[in-house]
Amino acid sequence: MSQLKKNDHPGLPVSVVTGGAGFLGSHLVDYLLEQGHRVIAIDNLVTGDVDNISHHAGDERFRFIKQDVTEFLFLEGPVDYVWHFASPASPVDYAELPIQTLKVGSLGTHKTLGLAKHKGARFLLASTSEVYGDPLVHPQKEDYWGNVNPIGPRGCYDEAKRFAEAMTVAYSREHGVETRIVRIFNTYGPRMRLHDGRVVPAFMSQALKSLPLTVYGEGGQTRSFCFCNDLIDGIFRLMMSSVEGPVNIGNTHEMKIKDFAEEIIRISGSKSSIHYCPLPADDPQQRQPDITRARRELGWEPKTQLADGLRITIGYFKKKLSGIEPEGLKKCN
Ligand code: UDP
Repeated sequence: MSQLKKNDHPGLPVSVVTGGAGFLGSHLVDYLLEQGHRVIAIDNLVTGDVDNISHHAGDERFRFIKQDVTEFLFLEGPVDYVWHFASPASPVDYAELPIQTLKVGSLGTHKTLGLAKHKGARFLLASTSEVYGDPLVHPQKEDYWGNVNPIGPRGCYDEAKRFAEAMTVAYSREHGVETRIVRIFNTYGPRMRLHDGRVVPAFMSQALKSLPLTVYGEGGQTRSFCFCNDLIDGIFRLMMSSVEGPVNIGNTHEMKIKDFAEEIIRISGSKSSIHYCPLPADDPQQRQPDITRARRELGWEPKTQLADGLRITIGYFKKKLSGIEPEGLKKCN
């Protein structure tokens, strides 16, 4: 990767993206470069992958630093925006890495807020619908406080993100750092890891290999799936807005996991069947964002139809499975 020298591009805004080699972080990096930012991506590559950003090698506006953001962050030069996206994000990953998940949400958020304060940068926290836990209110509005089991299998992620939100608000109140909080609902698209255990890569790889799709429980639990490009558009709007409170960004098209499995079988043209497996502990039974605030304050709503987004994503996994590196990684579509 090229090294970014101080004052190389004095007029361009400078963005730091933690987790910049991950699924969403790398799409954000693409988008910011398209918007004319200089971008410094930081990632310890525990769940990220340099393949997601390697197409920017040679772009002198881009720099990659391999670092764990729970360690002290030193960067020379100005920074205008800090986007804190680093974290394991799939239930399988954070079950395997509970301490790292807690550390990146707590210590990593502290360090990145410290960086933002030092540089006078605006800070955006990538939070999650998991702060609502297994919600007792439906759909979930930003003023709902959630129903989280702190000692359950998801506790390490949910509580880390809740702590991260509290720390973000504290830096805003005590130090006057300009902060934004996005609560990200289920998102899918190219660059999800084939084996991260999340439902989209799991079902797609099973469908493409003609294996049964592993639906947990009876498949009556619901999720609402947002395509990555839509999500990044909403998050960029949030950072550039004056909205300080948390904002849900996600798709409102809620469906049962069993029906989602059938949709993936249909769209991929697979002959796979459905295999029912035990439901994991504390699996939220229903989830749908209330996006009234995003619509009103950001003028944002998702645009990509589920079938279109799924086709693009299936195309990506098809190439991954056949060992051919997918082309056109620069954009989701
Ligand atoms: N799920 C499933 N089969 C799988 C993987 C996940 O039925 O092979 C279900 C899971 O139990 C949950 C939903 O799909 O109800 C979404 O799971 P995911 O891990 O993608 O994310 P979550 O929204 O639970 O954080």
